[in-house]
Amino acid sequence: MKTLAGFIILMGIILLFADAELLAPLGEFAGYFIGGGLLLLVIGQFVGNHEKHWLCRIGFHDFERQERVEEVPAMRWYRCKRCGKEKRAASIV
Ligand SMILES: [Zn+2]
Repeated sequence: MKTLAGFIILMGIILLFADAELLAPLGEFAGYFIGGGLLLLVIGQFVGNHEKHWLCRIGFHDFERQERVEEVPAMRWYRCKRCGKEKRAASIV
C-alpha cells in the first residue's frame, strides 16, 4: 500500500517536471497523481493500523508497569494497556 502510494507520488513529481513533448499533456494530471498518492498514504495509515487505538497510532501508549527484566534488575517491562506494545525502562521502584 505504502509502496503503491509512493510510486504514484513519484509519478506525479516526474510528470510535474517532465517537459518532454510526449509527457506535456500529462502535466495537468501531475497534481492529481500527487494528491491521490498522498490520500492513499493517509488511508493506508488508518486502514493498516485499524486494530490500534488512535492514541497508540500517534505514539501515546498507555504503559502499565510489569515485572522486572530478568537480566537487568534495574529495569522493568512496561506494556501498553490498549495495544499490548512492550518496552523496557529503568525503574527504581
Ligand atoms: Zn499502545
